Amino acid sequence: MYGTSPGPARIRRHRPWWLVILALGLWAPATALAAEPTAAPTSTAEPEPEPMPVTAGDRPTRAPVHADCNHRMPLYLHEVEPGEHLGLIAGRYGVRRTELAALNPQLTNPDLIRPGETVRVCPEIFPRLTRRIEHVVAKGETLSAIATLHGLSVDDLVEQQSGGIADPNVVRVGQRLLLEVDGGLVPDFLPPEPKAKRRRRRSGGKSRAVSMALPTSKLMHIKRPGLAYGTPKTISLLQRAVKRYKGRHASSPRVLVGDISRKGGGRLDPHASHRTGRDVDMGYVLLGSHAKRTRFSGVNRDTLDVAKTWALLDAFLETGEVVFLFVDYRIQQQLYDYAKQRGVSQHRLDEVFQYPHGRRRARGIIRHWPSHRNHFHVRFRT
Ligand SMILES: [Zn+2]
Repeated sequence: MYGTSPGPARIRRHRPWWLVILALGLWAPATALAAEPTAAPTSTAEPEPEPMPVTAGDRPTRAPVHADCNHRMPLYLHEVEPGEHLGLIAGRYGVRRTELAALNPQLTNPDLIRPGETVRVCPEIFPRLTRRIEHVVAKGETLSAIATLHGLSVDDLVEQQSGGIADPNVVRVGQRLLLEVDGGLVPDFLPPEPKAKRRRRRSGGKSRAVSMALPTSKLMHIKRPGLAYGTPKTISLLQRAVKRYKGRHASSPRVLVGDISRKGGGRLDPHASHRTGRDVDMGYVLLGSHAKRTRFSGVNRDTLDVAKTWALLDAFLETGEVVFLFVDYRIQQQLYDYAKQRGVSQHRLDEVFQYPHGRRRARGIIRHWPSHRNHFHVRFRT
């Protein structure tokens, strides 16, 4: 992921003309039927690429690493926002509530924190800035197109207008919207200035740390053993989580393990990550005959075994070493509802799930990322 994370959110107001024509051509029949009040085509554009979370261990940072963070990342001072509690803050940075409590002995009661107070964090997921911008509604724009353009959900956008939009289907040309958009990483967490990193790595991105093959096991089906190399820590945590899960669901079929990294790490197409032996793709647990598949496919509302998938995710979370889990937002909803119904506390739900805060919000350890409908993705700590 090094060097691939975009800088401050780019505002792109103009799409290439051919794309517009293509989109209009393809969608004209559908929009004619939809008869939007704004008389504009519904958004057909793909959402802007979201900035992938940058995590500790990805690369050096501009600010020095802090002793209180075991020299792993700079310390970050988080200012508590209205409505936040410690678990919610923990999930935002890919850490645990208990870790925050230990790092903040000044909080006499960790269950009672107030907006404006400062919480010390050793962020596994690096903090990002929020930028405030004004968007003037142009002719033909819909709210959803505007939201997509700025990397927001419609709900987020409406919420940010604090009641200024009564009906999301109606926006006026010339109307001014104040938006809060992603402003890139907090400067301390940016890569060092260019001259500091001039020394080229001779290894070509390969690392001796990514040398352990995931051993074959009766508990797992490994899709491509040649691409199932990880750091010793990753391999052992993966085995631990699967063992724990199978201990509770002994009769369930073998767990499906996808790519981790190639031997020695480095770029692994078509993945955006999987370079450092810390990322693992895993199959969701499915019901009935679907459960025996050995490919990532066939996952939908009716085939997902929600209970067992939650148990599997929970086994990963229990390692205490997961930075994030990428799970499609709709699947998150199923898992969230299930966990809630099973009596998981609201504080834990807030710590663990991004849902229902919006698929583009930096909340929770379980986060949405495009193309995780058929499998989920685990990032372990360094
Ligand atoms: Zn993946």
